[in-house]
Amino acid sequence: PVDIEQRLLAALDAEQRAAVTAPRGPVCVLAGAGTGKTRTITHRIAYLVHRGHVSPGQVLAVTFTARAAGEMRTRLRALGVHGAQARTFHAAALRQLRYFWPRVVGDEPWELVEGSKLRLVGQAAHRVRVATDGETLRDLAGEIEWAKASLVGPDAYAAATAKVHRDTPLPADQVAQVYTAYEELKNKARLLDFGDLLLHTAAALEQHADVAAEFRDRYRCFVVDEYQDVTPLQQRVLDAWLGERDDLTVVGDANQTIYSFAGASPRPLLEFARRFPGAAVVRLERDYRSTPQVVGLANRVIGAARDRPAGSRLRLVGQRADGPEPQFAEFDDEPAEAAAVARRIRELLDAGVPASQIAVLFRVNAQSEVYEQALSEAGIPYLVRGGERFFARPEVRQAVAALRAAASAPPEGDLPESVRAVLAGQGLTAEPPAGGAARERWESLLALVELAEELAGTLDGADLSRYVAELEMRADAQHPPTVEGVTLASLHAAKGLEWDAVFLVGLVEGTLPIQHADGDDAAIEEERRLLYVGATRARVYLWLSWALSRSAGGRRHRRRSRFLYGLIPEDHPAARPTARLRDGGAAKNGNRRCWVCGDQLVGAAALKLDRCPSCPSDVDEELLARLKSWRSERARQLKVPPYVVFTDATLVAIAERRPSDTS
Ligand code: ATP
Ligand code: MG
Repeated sequence: PVDIEQRLLAALDAEQRAAVTAPRGPVCVLAGAGTGKTRTITHRIAYLVHRGHVSPGQVLAVTFTARAAGEMRTRLRALGVHGAQARTFHAAALRQLRYFWPRVVGDEPWELVEGSKLRLVGQAAHRVRVATDGETLRDLAGEIEWAKASLVGPDAYAAATAKVHRDTPLPADQVAQVYTAYEELKNKARLLDFGDLLLHTAAALEQHADVAAEFRDRYRCFVVDEYQDVTPLQQRVLDAWLGERDDLTVVGDANQTIYSFAGASPRPLLEFARRFPGAAVVRLERDYRSTPQVVGLANRVIGAARDRPAGSRLRLVGQRADGPEPQFAEFDDEPAEAAAVARRIRELLDAGVPASQIAVLFRVNAQSEVYEQALSEAGIPYLVRGGERFFARPEVRQAVAALRAAASAPPEGDLPESVRAVLAGQGLTAEPPAGGAARERWESLLALVELAEELAGTLDGADLSRYVAELEMRADAQHPPTVEGVTLASLHAAKGLEWDAVFLVGLVEGTLPIQHADGDDAAIEEERRLLYVGATRARVYLWLSWALSRSAGGRRHRRRSRFLYGLIPEDHPAARPTARLRDGGAAKNGNRRCWVCGDQLVGAAALKLDRCPSCPSDVDEELLARLKSWRSERARQLKVPPYVVFTDATLVAIAERRPSDTS
C-alpha cells in the first residue's frame, strides 16, 4: 500500500496533494478549467481507500453527465479502486429509490415519465384551459423543471419568479395552474419525472429515520464534481445524504457555471468555507490540460466577464509546451464552414490525431445536422453526444425492443453475452461491415454491447431487465453510449471533457450568444461562460469559426459573435470591416456611431443603445481610452476627420484599400 500511496501522490502537484491528503471532513477545491480538479477527487477517493479510511462501497461520488461518471469509474479502477459509486445525481437517486421505494411508498413501482412528458404537460394545459402550441409546451416543461430544481412548488411559483424577475413563458399564474395540473395528473398516473427522483430521495431520508440510518451507515464519504452547477434540489439531496456529517469533498469553477438557466448556482461552492468553517480550501492555478496559447485565449474570454464573484478571479497558468495559435475562420455560409471543418479534421486524422481526440462543439443541437452531413460526405466517423439521436436511430429502437422482449424471459449467464446474442438477430455480425450505413448500424449495435459491459462491470448481478431499464433511463436522459469517432456535442454536454483538437463553430450573434439572451446581462454572461467552457476543452488545437449566412448563397446578414471582440488578432483577414460598413442604409441614421467600436449605427436597436447590439456594453475604461486614442491618432495619420475612424481593424482596411468608402 505504501508504494501505491506514493504513486498516487507522485502524480500530483503540491496543492493537489494538499487536497488529496486532507483529513476526512469538508474539503473544497476552487479552481479553473484543466487544473486537475477531477483528477484531485479521484486521487482523494483512492487515497482514502488505500489508507483504509473508507471502503470503496462507502464512497458516493456524483458528477454531471453519465459520460463523466463512466470516466470517473474508469479512472478509479485504474487507481486500484473497485466498487466505488460514481454516478449522476439522478442515477444515484434512481438507484436508492428503487431500494427504498417499498418502504416509503408501497409495493407498486412507479414509472419514469420523461418520454411522454410533453404530452402530459399538454394534457395539464388543456385541463386548466391554457392555450399552447408546441414551443410553448416545451417552454412550460422547462419552466416546471426549473421550478422543481429551485424547490419552488406551484403555489410559490408566481411570487418566486417575480422576485428574481424571471421571464415566464406565459403569465405566471397560468404557468402555476399548468404546473399544479401536471403534478396531479402525473401522480395519479403513478409517474415520476427527473425532479421527482431527487425530491422523493430527499424526502425518504428526511422523513424515514430507519431509511436515513441505513443509508448513512452504508455511505460515509461524499464527493461532488462540477459543484458550481448544483441546484437547490440537488443540494437538498446532498444535505439529506450527509445528515449531521461533514465528510464532503466538492470541486468546481464558478466561471464554468452554465446551468443557471436550469436553476443551478455557484453560491454553495463559493460559500462552502462559510458553511463548513473547518473546511480545507484549496486553490489550483496551474493548467495541465492546454497549451499556453489555448490558456491565453481562455483567460481573455473569461477576463472580459462582468461581475465575477470573488473566488472565481483566478488566472490560469499554462504548464504545457507551446502549441499552435488558435485559428479563426470566417465563411460565407454554414455548409462552407462545415466543409472546411471536415477538411481540417481530415488533415488532423492524416497527421495521426485519433478521431476520438477531436470534437466539434456547438451551442444548440440543431447545429449538428450540417456537421453530420459534412463529416459523412468526407467519410469521417463521428458520434453525436448528448443528443437523442442515438436512441432515436431506427436500428437502436428496434434493438431495444428486441432486448426488452428477451428480458421478459428468465435472465441467463453473462450480461454482455446475452446482449450480444439478442443483437446477433438484429445484424450484429462478428466482423464489421466495410462501411457506409451498414457500418453505422453495426457501430450503434456494438455500442449497446459496450454499455452492457460497462454495466456488468459496475453493478454486481446486473441482468438483462436491469440493463433494459438502464437503456430506457439513458434514452430519457439522452446520454448515448460511447462509440469511436469524432465527437459532435453541444457546449453543455462537453463540460469536464477534453480533446486534443476542438472546433468551436457557429460563433455568430443569435447563436452564441443565443438570441433570447440578448438584452439580459445575466444570460449574456452565461453565454460567455459557455464559450469559456468550450475553449478550455482543447488540449492543443483550437479552431473558432462562424458563417455570415445560414444556407449556401443566402443573404450574408449574420454578424460574428460579440465574444470574439478582442480575441481575433488584428492582422487577421477576418478582422476586416463588417457588412454594415458597406450597407447603404447606414446613411439614413445620420451617421451616428457606436460609442464602443465607432462603426456606423444600423437599426433601431442600435440607435436606442447608442452602440452596436453586438458590441459589449462593458468595455473597460482602459480599453475605451485606448480605442479613442487609436482613433484620433490614426485619423491624424490618415489625414481624415476623427469621425470616419472606426475600429483598429477597420482602419487598416481603410488605409489599405478603400479610402473612398469612408466618405
Ligand atoms: P475541468 O474544469 O474542465 O473539469 P479539471 O480541473 O477537472 O478540468 P482535470 O480533467 O482533472 O481538470 O485535468 C485536466 C488534465 O490535466 C487531465 O488530462 C489531467 O490528467 C491532467 N493533470 C491534472 N493534474 C495533473 C498533474 N499534476 N500533472 C500532470 N497532469 C495533470
Ligand atoms: Mg473536471
